[in-house]
Amino acid sequence: GSTIGILGGGQLGRMLSVAASRLGFKTAIFEPGGDCPASHVANFHLQAGYDDIKALEKFGNSVDVLTYEFENIPTEALDALDQIRPIRPGREALRISQDRLTEKTFLRDLGLQTAPFATVDDAASLAQAIETIGTPSILKTRRFGYDGKGQARLTKPEDAEEALAALQGAPAVLEGFVDFTCEISVIAARGTDGRVAAFDPGQNVHEGGILRTTTVPASLPNRVLTDAVLTAGKILNALDYIGVLGVEFFVTPGGLIVNEIAPRVHNSGHWTQNGCMTDQFEQHIRAVAGWPLGDGSRHSDIRMENLIGDDMDRVPALAADPACALHLYGKADTKPGRKMGHANFLVPKD
Ligand code: ATP
Ligand code: MG
Ligand code: MG
Repeated sequence: GSTIGILGGGQLGRMLSVAASRLGFKTAIFEPGGDCPASHVANFHLQAGYDDIKALEKFGNSVDVLTYEFENIPTEALDALDQIRPIRPGREALRISQDRLTEKTFLRDLGLQTAPFATVDDAASLAQAIETIGTPSILKTRRFGYDGKGQARLTKPEDAEEALAALQGAPAVLEGFVDFTCEISVIAARGTDGRVAAFDPGQNVHEGGILRTTTVPASLPNRVLTDAVLTAGKILNALDYIGVLGVEFFVTPGGLIVNEIAPRVHNSGHWTQNGCMTDQFEQHIRAVAGWPLGDGSRHSDIRMENLIGDDMDRVPALAADPACALHLYGKADTKPGRKMGHANFLVPKD
C-alpha cells in the first residue's frame, strides 16, 4: 500500500489519517510538536521543524504523495518537498491562500464579490484605507490569522491607532464590515481527472471569530445555494486544484460575498462525517491519491457543534445522546478557545 504524507498534526491531520487508513493507506505526519492529535492515529510521526530541510527531505522520501492540514507552510519547506513528491493541493493554491491580500485580489480578478479591502502597512496607509473603506471595518493580518486571531475591529476612524497597535505592525488588510444575513460555506473537491464534487452548503454561526455551529441544509433559497456551489467550482478550476477546498461566504441581499478560502479540509465540513456516504476527509484522500471522487450527496440533516474549551464538560451527556455522533481530538489539556472536538447531531426530518 502507499503512504500519504500529511504536513501538520492537528485534528484535521488526525481525521485525514483515519479516513486514509480506512481506504488502506498508511499515513505519515510531519509536525514540530510531540504529542499531537494526528500522531495518535498515524503510522509515522516525524517530529521536526519546517526549517529542518534534511528532515523534510527524509519525510518526502518516505511517502508517495504530500498533502497538508494548514496553509501556512513556509515557502522554503515547500521548495524542498516539491522536488521530491507531488504536493496536493498545489503550490498556487497555497501561495494565494497564505496571504489575505493575494487571496482577495485573486477572488476579485475571478469576477467574484469580496468585501472592500485595502492594504495596510503603517499609520499612513491605514488612514488612507479608512478614507476609502470607512468604518465599521476590520483590520486583519495578511498572514497566519485563524479563529479570528490577528484581527481588530474599527467602529470609528479614531480606533485606527488602537487597531494598528493590536496587530503589532504586521502587514494587514483593512476590510469593510459586511452586514450579512448569514454565513455559509461550501466544501468542494476536485480530482486529478478534473472532476468536481461539492457537498451541500452549510450555514455557519461564529462566536468571537470562532466557528460555533454548522447546519445542513442551510435555510436559504436554492438559487443562493447553487450560486455558492458554482462559485466554489469556479475557484477549483481556476486553481487547477486537487483536493478539498473550503469557501466561506457572507450572504447579503446584494448576493454572495466570498470571505476567504482554505486549501484543505475545513471545520465547517465536519458535518459530512455523519451526513454523507463519503465525508470531506475521505474525499480529500481520494483526490490526493488520484482516486475517483466519492459521492458527497447528503443523506441526513445535521447540526455540527464545535466543542471548545469547557464544552468538554458536556461529553458525558453527549455520549449518552443517541442522536449525537461524537468526534474527540484526544488533546490532553483544555484551554479556553481551544477546539477539543465536535458533535454531529442528527436532526429529525419533519
Ligand atoms: P478561520 O478560522 O475561519 O480561518 P479567520 O481568523 O481567518 O477564521 P475570518 O474568517 O476572516 O477569520 O473572520 C472570522 C469571522 O469574523 C467571520 O466568519 C465573520 O463572522 C466575521 N467577519 C470577518 N470578516 C468580516 C467582515 N468583513 N464583515 C463582517 N464580519 C466579518
Ligand atoms: Mg481564515
Ligand atoms: Mg474564516
